[in-house]
Amino acid sequence: MPHESTEIGRSDYINRLDRAASAAASARLDALLISPGSDLRYLIGYDAIPMERLTCLVLRATGEHWLVVPELETAAAQAAGTQDLGLELIPWPETADPFALVADRLGTVSAVGVDNHMWAEKSLRFAEAMPATAQRLAGSVLDPLRAVKTVHEIDELARAGAAIDSVHAQMANWLQPGRSEREVADDIAAAILEAGHVQVDFVIVASGPNGASPHHEVSDRVLESGDPVVVDIGGTMPSGYRSDSTRTYSLGEPPPDFAEYYPVLQAAQAAAVAAVRPGIACQDIDTAARTVIADAGYADLFIHRTGHGIGLQTHENPYIVEGNTETMQAGHAFSVEPGIYLPGRHGARIEDIIVCGDNGPIPLNKRPHGIGVIE
Ligand code: ZN
Ligand code: ZN
Repeated sequence: MPHESTEIGRSDYINRLDRAASAAASARLDALLISPGSDLRYLIGYDAIPMERLTCLVLRATGEHWLVVPELETAAAQAAGTQDLGLELIPWPETADPFALVADRLGTVSAVGVDNHMWAEKSLRFAEAMPATAQRLAGSVLDPLRAVKTVHEIDELARAGAAIDSVHAQMANWLQPGRSEREVADDIAAAILEAGHVQVDFVIVASGPNGASPHHEVSDRVLESGDPVVVDIGGTMPSGYRSDSTRTYSLGEPPPDFAEYYPVLQAAQAAAVAAVRPGIACQDIDTAARTVIADAGYADLFIHRTGHGIGLQTHENPYIVEGNTETMQAGHAFSVEPGIYLPGRHGARIEDIIVCGDNGPIPLNKRPHGIGVIE
């Protein structure tokens, strides 16, 4: 999709605030209460650190929004550009009760949407301050908006994808017999930052039998010749958008049972990607991968969903899992990452981030899918 690449800026945030306010109104929520985290960053670009003092965007269905911040963080909130978005900035003094302040200013309202990731202590303080107001999850309104990416967001995810691909491209330098998973992971983490990420989100180096545990991170196990190694890595770019990609390597010739199931996995991953198009149910993409693996007799060894949405969080909507009848829309961005795990022996996973385009899948990771044999 050729287009001018532009950074996410003021007009994107204003658009997001407007759409969130309309969606809140349609859901009969008088306001959304958004605390620091990915929803706050999505709506106003403010990457505030969650802490005990209340920072809260009060996004009102009627369209006037407030940003309530501890007085000492006023300058930080302004530096994030929030004053350009038409928000009223309301600093609260150190000894004030910010929950009462929000309740007083909102007046009597019947229902608010509370940030899915708000700390429970804050949600409970709001409930005390507004006893007649029902709390629902703001995610019911925000998740569907966040799931469909704009061209600017797809650009950011593509940059993240290229950055993590460049780390996988160097794997032969680090995956060598005699080195521990932890030593390899340290090199990978440094490379994730060198590739342009500002944060390392996770580094999984799962060698030999550890490969059979999908979320094994690292251990002191020393790599041996003939080991298959699952490497699943991701980080956060300066824009806040994230990468997540898995390749499976082998140190020299892989064991015969591994070599037998790996092509099945590769076919399953390709089948799921090929199924991606607007209108298909998310669960049918999962089925496309699962059927290939089941037909080859490995059904019991594929023990997780096929994928998850990605954006300002590594895991977000839409989830590619049986039971999710939600339909794919152009602009959805998500992982396709089937795996086969043989307990006590080894495992394999192949993961790419895919965008659902108008006419089919657009992969954002482009490294080869075969076994990454390292001689
Ligand atoms: Zn991953
Ligand atoms: Zn993933």
